[in-house]
Amino acid sequence: MTLCTPYQTQQLDTNTLPEVMERIYREVVEDYGKGKVADYIPVLKEVNPRQFGMALRTIDGEEFSIGQASAPFSIQSISKLFALMLALDIYGEEIWERVGREPSGMRFNSLLLLESEGGIPRNPFINAGAIVISDIIAAYSSIPAKRIQDFIAGLSNNPDNRIDPVVAAGEKATGFLNTAIANLLKALNNLHSDVDRTLDCYFKQCAISMNCIDLARATECLANRGCSNFNSCFSANNTHKRINAIMLTCGLYDAVGNFAYHVGLPAKSGVGGGIVAVAPGQYSVAVWSPELDDYGNSLLGQAALEKLTSYTQTSVF
Ligand code: GLN
Repeated sequence: MTLCTPYQTQQLDTNTLPEVMERIYREVVEDYGKGKVADYIPVLKEVNPRQFGMALRTIDGEEFSIGQASAPFSIQSISKLFALMLALDIYGEEIWERVGREPSGMRFNSLLLLESEGGIPRNPFINAGAIVISDIIAAYSSIPAKRIQDFIAGLSNNPDNRIDPVVAAGEKATGFLNTAIANLLKALNNLHSDVDRTLDCYFKQCAISMNCIDLARATECLANRGCSNFNSCFSANNTHKRINAIMLTCGLYDAVGNFAYHVGLPAKSGVGGGIVAVAPGQYSVAVWSPELDDYGNSLLGQAALEKLTSYTQTSVF
């Protein structure tokens, strides 16, 4: 029989954190070369794969970073998190009439479930669900992608976090599956704007560039009951709780169970190689490394987060 130590909520020790982050950096770079950068658009394919950055921000506003934490990269599907935060804040629970809250178990751009489930996407973090959220924001704003861009600029306190027009053009030029998804949503009466207008918003939000430091800042409110040092992010109580729950169950597509097993934090990933994660009541953290695994999630990013929650004992479990 093994001996048990009594359960205590472990608080992050910020004195040893710089050392822990250096150790993580040293260890994860051993995995360079094991994954593959996103190659569906030339500008993403050209990114140097051997890069790693990590930034952590505590709810007291202390910041720690290592590696290429201030290098901007394409946030891709991490934008689905910000779009959901915005839509939920504007419309509240109404949004759940058009999109579900269950993991899909399918690749992020799959069309398979959409028809059989009557045009209601499983969750807002797969492409079909995010396109519905873009449509919801498009009903509220005349320039919806700019609305999302401004929301992110406010959350991160940095107006330089903008849509990269070259990435946006690449998204559009290669977005055949997303166009199919949007058309199916339209045919099944779950898209209110024009297909092109909604897709324009979706492609542009995917093309926003940010760095790890700003991503950690922008997600601080999820760790801090809806408030950050820059802003009060949500008008309704408990919005952070809802969003964190969806991150935990749907944030890494069909690899979400594995991520919860290894890391144990609500998180959202993107094919640009970024992952943001939240330790409620403690910190938000962003990692970036462009090499992806077969599910489209950053290989080194996941390894770094697993090491972080193991070395600091700060998973939610
Ligand atoms: N732009 C990508 C797409 O729409 C985003 C996917 C992702 O980051 N998983 O497919």
